[in-house]
Amino acid sequence: MNGNCYSPVYITTRRVLIVKFLTVRYVHLDFKLPKQIHFSIGSVNNMKQLILLFLIPLFLTCTFSDQNSTHNVAYENGLWFNGSEFIEATYFSSDGIFSDQLPTRIDTTYNLSGKYIIPPFGDAHTHELGSRESLEEMLPRYMEDGIFYVQILANHASKIADFRDEFSSQHNIDIAYANGGLTSTLGHPFVAFETAAIGLHWSAMFSQRGRIKESRLAEKDAYWFLDSPDDVEMQWDEIMASDPDLIKIFLINTLKHGELFNSGQMGNFGLAAHTAEAVVTKAHESGLRVVAHVETADDFRIGLDIGVNGFGHLPGYSWNAVINPEKYRLNDDDLARAAQQNVFVTPTAVFARVYATNFESDGTRSIDEERKQRVNQFLKHETQRLHNAGVRIAIGSDQYRETSMMELDYLYESLEVFDASTLLHIGTYTTPAAIFPERRIGKFLNGYEASFLVLDKNPLEDWSALRTISIRVKHGKPLW
Ligand SMILES: [Zn+2]
Repeated sequence: MNGNCYSPVYITTRRVLIVKFLTVRYVHLDFKLPKQIHFSIGSVNNMKQLILLFLIPLFLTCTFSDQNSTHNVAYENGLWFNGSEFIEATYFSSDGIFSDQLPTRIDTTYNLSGKYIIPPFGDAHTHELGSRESLEEMLPRYMEDGIFYVQILANHASKIADFRDEFSSQHNIDIAYANGGLTSTLGHPFVAFETAAIGLHWSAMFSQRGRIKESRLAEKDAYWFLDSPDDVEMQWDEIMASDPDLIKIFLINTLKHGELFNSGQMGNFGLAAHTAEAVVTKAHESGLRVVAHVETADDFRIGLDIGVNGFGHLPGYSWNAVINPEKYRLNDDDLARAAQQNVFVTPTAVFARVYATNFESDGTRSIDEERKQRVNQFLKHETQRLHNAGVRIAIGSDQYRETSMMELDYLYESLEVFDASTLLHIGTYTTPAAIFPERRIGKFLNGYEASFLVLDKNPLEDWSALRTISIRVKHGKPLW
């Protein structure tokens, strides 16, 4: 069968969603319904998601009927982001992989009509997409934002088991799950996960501490207690049985670990340094990366000493602009080592809003703008220093019901730390590469996966252009 095929592509904007048709020339194409994505109405909480809900099952896609031959595609008339600017070019792909060779046969040609092409985004720090409920609410958000690569830095292993395989397809978003976070007995994130596991409101963290302290509903699922290198040795096989894609550890006030651990309090500490070191050794032997939650500059240094691969926060992300910030400040030697060890750091700067909040005695709360500005200035300065030293910055907001777009916007609009081009490179190359270092993603180069977003406007001239994604292509195939 030869001729014209009209492949529907949904053009989305913040407020409206209309259907357009992209003209495709093809050989041997047939239509079939894509794998259904099921969303329950009950989880849809705004009009945007409702629209997506109705459109996704309608999506039709062209698939090649002759499975034995290579499917060659030409993408013409696009302006492609090369890491710093947009350049006019024609790109080719063969079976979903970019090729710089002109194929002997072109099966499909897409006319990109002078639009702006960027690689898809990553999210290197979230706890969303860790349950069926979260998936139903947040997966449409991730797709809408053009985020194809996501790293979950601690989740209930039991809550992802029944859908994890759905994300092994080339044509869905890719998720790396850390599963349970590794801490010492009663250390962070025990209280947060256990409070939720009991079914209590988060405020019970303060009012029902005794009950939470005795509970272990989420142990060996959302968190693991490791109090010595021997514990690591004894529990490692069980940890690996949950099949984590990476390991998340907690380094919090680590130099005071013994004192805090023995005090009987909860949550203000993580692993002891020598236990964390045993974890990193085991993880690397198992071929897994280790990402560390850190609070202070000392925690960061210990992370470098023991060889972690990335940091879930920039020290100072939780500064309240009241105490002396010196304990958060990295020195030049720290920066040089971090660059040399090729670690990544997710600043999670958007927490400045949380830690600059005033809680009044009458129960009301408000962001203290003056404090927030001082935190912003500190985080801007430190993030710039990391970048200038050659340390990789990755994007993640670590906020519930948000994606990494919240952090990307915050870095651009509130911190004003990087220009649009630098931030775009961080969001679409550095971040995906930090999450899946073995993959060829985030660049339009020979041998890289043919995944990209088509924008109606130029984001280097207008940041809001990132909300004008009209086409999303993953591994050579339009997602919707
Ligand atoms: Zn987190």
